[in-house]
Amino acid sequence: MSMINELIEKVKVKNPGEPEFHQAVKEVMETLEPTAKKHPEFVKAKIYERIVEPDRAILFRVPWVDDKGEVQVNKGFRVQFNNAIGPYKGGLRLHPSVNLGIIKFLGFEQIFKNALTTLPMGGGKGGSDFDPKGKSDMEVMRFCQAFMRELFRHIGADVDVPAGDIGVGGREIGYLYGYYKKIRNEHTGVLTGRALEWGGSLIRPEATGYGSVYFAAEMLATRGKDLKGLRCAVSGSGNVFQYTAEKITQLGGKVITVSDSNGTIVDEDGIDAKKLADIIDLKEVQRARIKEFAAKYPKAKYYEGKSVWDVIKDGLKIDCAFPSATQNEIDEEHAKAMVKNGCFCVSEGANMPSNLAAIKVYQGNNVLYGPAKAANAGGVATSGLEMSQGSMRLYWSREEVDQKLHNIMKSIHKQCLDAAEKYATKGDYLAGANIAGFVKVAKAMLAYGIV
Ligand code: NAP
Repeated sequence: MSMINELIEKVKVKNPGEPEFHQAVKEVMETLEPTAKKHPEFVKAKIYERIVEPDRAILFRVPWVDDKGEVQVNKGFRVQFNNAIGPYKGGLRLHPSVNLGIIKFLGFEQIFKNALTTLPMGGGKGGSDFDPKGKSDMEVMRFCQAFMRELFRHIGADVDVPAGDIGVGGREIGYLYGYYKKIRNEHTGVLTGRALEWGGSLIRPEATGYGSVYFAAEMLATRGKDLKGLRCAVSGSGNVFQYTAEKITQLGGKVITVSDSNGTIVDEDGIDAKKLADIIDLKEVQRARIKEFAAKYPKAKYYEGKSVWDVIKDGLKIDCAFPSATQNEIDEEHAKAMVKNGCFCVSEGANMPSNLAAIKVYQGNNVLYGPAKAANAGGVATSGLEMSQGSMRLYWSREEVDQKLHNIMKSIHKQCLDAAEKYATKGDYLAGANIAGFVKVAKAMLAYGIV
């Protein structure tokens, strides 16, 4: 058994009950075989064994009081995975499914993603099993304050800079930062994803979605294609969905799906700017379910209990896929159906939305496959730009930030192709992304000695 395969097995034994973390380690490590051959110094210094262990994992109790005056207790997590190339950086997720294994998978992925952005950021992730759905604003505020009451001692502008993720948008970042500022008495770049008035960056809300579409456009260009007239399936209806849909439409593509955890809408006429504004209002203001969209646009069909990928299994034809909801939303059968129904390009806005078997299907069918850590790195890259603007005490214009984001996505695309060609197989974006991110971090770890 190779050193890498032995390590994958060891990770499973040493981290029981964490399937998502095992999956993420396997996906990355399997593609790193060629780096071990080219860099015996990495093997000797046990960089591979060290990089799968987080620097530290902080687990804490989050007690808060609901609107009825009852005490509620949630779990809090912050995993500071690796700060070899910069302060820990990665979002906070609020979702009932959150557990240590999920936060570790996300933090591990974040190391390589952040390295690809070209900016100096390490990898971390955090969150809680708190479910913001159905909670009042005051309940969300009391939870965020209780969460920050512990988190504040572990983060800092040069230490660890959290941001949003599933369930954490502008409202939650406001409550979290407001409380941090209160108890620390400092206005500092300790959280990103802030509103413009209090230290945010233009284009940050748009960045993950726009970035994923810029990455897809780069991939399509390698085959002399662009998005014009292409039928695009986008999943989710949150932040990443919204700005993926906006950019696809701007570039001439047609967005035909939107979903949430209850079901999927298919709109053959396409989700244009007006419809998208309604979706944003539905999600961000009314905090309602996506089903309501079909009530306003009767030509749109709602499929209760089905994901976008289930509907494709039932025969929906698509050209491109932008999974933008959550991990493991696409399995092998979904991927086979996507290929059968015309899909030739997948750009992952969500983290690890395709399982390992689904990825094999893309690879076996010549699908342009942009893995999450490359395709959705635009969000954290723009968080990095938010940190730079904060440090310089100035704001760049919308156009400036968008241009920088676009250039970063082009650079990530090129790094993936270059690393794939140098170490693995030409055009293998998955291997390219993992290798390019890994080599950068590994070199820094090597320089520091055994720490
Ligand atoms: P969000 O605004 O909270 O939206 C999440 C969307 O996905 C919602 O429509 C949600 O539906 C759906 N969803 C969540 N969990 C689901 C599940 N288990 N099954 C089916 N649907 C589910 O979150 P987001 O920021 O768009 O994040 C989406 C994905 O992108 C995540 O994987 C996240 O890690 C990744 N990502 C986000 C960023 C960023 O900048 N925001 C950056 C990089 C990667 P409900 O409303 O029903 O829950």
